[in-house]
Amino acid sequence: MKSLGIVGTGQLGWMMILEGRRLNIEFSVIGSDPEAPASRIADKFYFNEQYREFVDNCDMITPEFEHVDRRILEYAEMQGKLAPGKKSLDLKLERHLEKLYLRDIGIPVADFFVAKDAQSALDLSEKFEESIIKTSKGGYDGKGQFHVKHGEKPDLPGDQIYVVEKFIPFDFEASIIAARTKDGHIFFNQPSYNYNENGILLYNYAPSDDYGMREKASRLLAELDYVGVMGIEFFIKDGKSIVNEFAPRVHNSGHHTLSGSNISQFEQHIRCVLDLPMHEPVLLTHSGIINILGLEINEKLTRDILSIPGTLLYNYGKRALPRRKVGHVNVTASSSEQLLNRLLDIKRIIYPVA
Ligand code: ATP
Ligand code: MG
Repeated sequence: MKSLGIVGTGQLGWMMILEGRRLNIEFSVIGSDPEAPASRIADKFYFNEQYREFVDNCDMITPEFEHVDRRILEYAEMQGKLAPGKKSLDLKLERHLEKLYLRDIGIPVADFFVAKDAQSALDLSEKFEESIIKTSKGGYDGKGQFHVKHGEKPDLPGDQIYVVEKFIPFDFEASIIAARTKDGHIFFNQPSYNYNENGILLYNYAPSDDYGMREKASRLLAELDYVGVMGIEFFIKDGKSIVNEFAPRVHNSGHHTLSGSNISQFEQHIRCVLDLPMHEPVLLTHSGIINILGLEINEKLTRDILSIPGTLLYNYGKRALPRRKVGHVNVTASSSEQLLNRLLDIKRIIYPVA
């Protein structure tokens, strides 16, 4: 039996394990919380300090989150067991490194400047009519971001590196889930339309049109010699795509593949990383998800959500904190119109307007 080690213990690892159970694989996880979603269902839990034992006992190691203890990644890479490689993961430690890399390899991104401290970030934001100032480190789910109109001077959280990015008045956002094998074959899921609110994904639905996303994703994956699944977020304006960011792992916008596709993004990732046979992903039906943010998933909510046809409810078993992702609902339908109606019905159930 092959054994896969997951670095990180959140819901992405949890879903990887749920899916991998059908592939005859043993799972270990490493982190700091034995009660976290993935820790509770793994075959073995290791604390970060035990990273050598963790790596030595697994066939391959893959992260479910970028901001993890670097010692684990370094040691795993030294043993030839890390996928995707550390370079792709390190680019995500500081946003400016990711942006510069994308620009260097010729992938279109929003115009941006790198600022060395808070004052320069405010000065550089004057170069745009409207901009988003983002802390280079530690941002996810819209954290550390400041939407600035010309002349505005928000209070920034101290001197550090910032990315000052032109605000893109996009028509909509979209993403693609791509998987690359060790021998360089790339498999694409149907892209999806994504609706973000306050910098965090609220719901998404597939399929969307391509808008050049596959071509850009292929270039990025090949350039990084990437192995595994990557989620790539785009802004779409006038039928053209520019990259917002990439996630070197399974991605929230790919959760719909759990019920809408012949093979989920989690299964694809496991197959790539463990070099198991791959299959072309096929979207079997219109499918999407809506995230459950910051509230407890009680009996009434469960019953109300399950009363909508085509729904499945994933509860990650995490404590509800403001804006925290505690679960999501998978939704399928026979047309995009029906799917969107169902998503909006569920949105009203989860987030009733006061
Ligand atoms: P994630 O959790 O996806 O990693 P993040 O905190 O890293 O999020 P981004 O993906 O960079 O942040 O931004 C979050 C959202 O904020 C985007 O999906 C988009 O809706 C909005 N946004 C970010 N940058 C821009 C921009 N330059 N122009 C317009 N909207 C933007
Ligand atoms: Mg994002």
